[in-house]
Amino acid sequence: MSRLRSITKHPTISLVESCSGLREIRQIHTQLLINGLLNDPFFLAQFLGSIALHHPNNMDYSQQLLDQSHNPTVFAFNSMIRAHSKGPIPERSFHFFHRILSSNLSPDNYTFTFLVRTCARVSLPKTSLAVHASVIKHGFELDPHVQSGLINSYAELGFLDSSRRLFSEIYEPDLVTRTAMLSSCARSGEVDFAQKLFDEIPYRDRDAIVWNAMIAGYAQCGRSREALHLFHLMQKEGVEVNEATMVSVLSACTHLGALDQGRWAHAYIERNRLHLTVTLGTALIDMYSKCGNMGRAMDIFWEMREKNVYTWSATIGGLAMNGAGEECLKLFDLMKQEGVMPNEVTFIAVLRGCSVVGLVEKGRKHFDSMTQVYGLEPELEHYGCMADLYGRAGLLDDAFNFINNMPMTPHAGAWGALLNACRIHKNMELGELALSKILELEDKNHGAYVLLSNMYADSKDWDSVSNVRQLMKVKGVRKIPGCSVIEVGGEVHEFFVGDKSHPRYGEIEVMLGEISRRLRLSGYVANTNPVLFDIEEEDKEDALCRHSEKVAIAFGLISLGEGVPIRIVKNLRVCGDCHDATKIISRVFSREIIVRDRNRFHHFKDGECSCKGYW
Ligand code: ZN
Ligand code: ZN
Repeated sequence: MSRLRSITKHPTISLVESCSGLREIRQIHTQLLINGLLNDPFFLAQFLGSIALHHPNNMDYSQQLLDQSHNPTVFAFNSMIRAHSKGPIPERSFHFFHRILSSNLSPDNYTFTFLVRTCARVSLPKTSLAVHASVIKHGFELDPHVQSGLINSYAELGFLDSSRRLFSEIYEPDLVTRTAMLSSCARSGEVDFAQKLFDEIPYRDRDAIVWNAMIAGYAQCGRSREALHLFHLMQKEGVEVNEATMVSVLSACTHLGALDQGRWAHAYIERNRLHLTVTLGTALIDMYSKCGNMGRAMDIFWEMREKNVYTWSATIGGLAMNGAGEECLKLFDLMKQEGVMPNEVTFIAVLRGCSVVGLVEKGRKHFDSMTQVYGLEPELEHYGCMADLYGRAGLLDDAFNFINNMPMTPHAGAWGALLNACRIHKNMELGELALSKILELEDKNHGAYVLLSNMYADSKDWDSVSNVRQLMKVKGVRKIPGCSVIEVGGEVHEFFVGDKSHPRYGEIEVMLGEISRRLRLSGYVANTNPVLFDIEEEDKEDALCRHSEKVAIAFGLISLGEGVPIRIVKNLRVCGDCHDATKIISRVFSREIIVRDRNRFHHFKDGECSCKGYW
């Protein structure tokens, strides 16, 4: 807090701040007792404040100092409140607030500034309301730092309306308050309102915090192109880019699968010598692995000197997602050897890795180790992974029993994994049962209807396919429009099914004709059953099945250099028809095609796909 820093600092205080541990602090303390400086209540407050803030592990020591002092100032209490508002047990701030109230002292604007920050961290509605009441009682409701803290704490509680009301009551909100409101809106997903606030802030006042909040807001709600656009504007404005900016930028690239822009962001980090913190390094690994460049992700992993559990988990998860199950498990072993404690996220990655290579026993062992060795309670997603593991290996009964024995109500994800396994292993009876379970939970689950109808279609049971279609109509199940994204020359191109708005659509059309000609020559016959057209996740426009990924592939073929792999990110599951066609395209055009669909990666090469038909 700059307002506190502006108070003249005694040289001894700087010494305390740079101490390596309690021993040195004690030495300084002894000297201060000898020279009598500690009798100055103002100095004492600075001393214990610097211990509390710079040596959070020795918070008890600063509290002892406070307890032993005869006439502590409100500054001393504020220092403790401030330290605890950032510390591991923020609730302790309230203890010191009560001590202020029970002494002859009066809380000041700093007290409340720190106290509302505590409220934002502990997220207890009643406490926040009580603090707010106290703010009003002591007459600090117009202090901009207190106001912005209150806005933040209500936003943290999910009371965005209260935040907005507070904000609207401020006659002329200053930058601090605007930033708080903007960050709050951008974080719980109200990006459009945040953008409005952003537009109202004069250019010269938009600092890195404001820009970062906006970019993060767009990145977090999946509006990645807008996040990247804003990042480019930020640079034009000459605002200093920092770690937080780049983490959001990388996350936007990851979401889009925009490898070129991700690479560019990486080069930017290196060029501007931004310190590669654990968070930034992990974001880079995540970007490269989710953009399908696992080799580069591994390079960064090995280069990083400091790694935390998220770094390991992102890398292990990346290997699993890219189909490298064996490597994924090897890395997990190494993680344990290095003494890094896995968490829930790690185990999702590990179980997915086991699933990819069909290691049922190993998967089970890892799953059991969660509770038995690491004291972690498996969550729904872990159970879903196990259902997938059994199902993929063809152990449908085991999958079914496993789901039935879950200690909690199974979720649609677990039944969905079983349904998908039933489709692959052609078990109609169990598939129907799984679907009925899914519909009990989510009666408009579009993906589940599609899976079942595909099962009927595979067995040429067109009547049942028609029935599913009818049922979907009756229930009003809505389709999500299919969308494929491809990056060419650092620019992201989006294709929706049936969308002909692309400036090069004419050339794309010609290439689509060429693709279907070569597919026909190679003996490929598109599945042209009209019932199937209607029920797939995406509508089929014509017999060529111009799903968005086919259009994106055609665009890739005309716009990317010879031999450059085509990378596509699709928002839905790849349909059977497109999967077959893409395999052949990869062979007849000698082109590597990497498709990241909603669930996994498909690396198409020489007429084969890395998923081996299981997706
Ligand atoms: Zn398709
Ligand atoms: Zn595949």
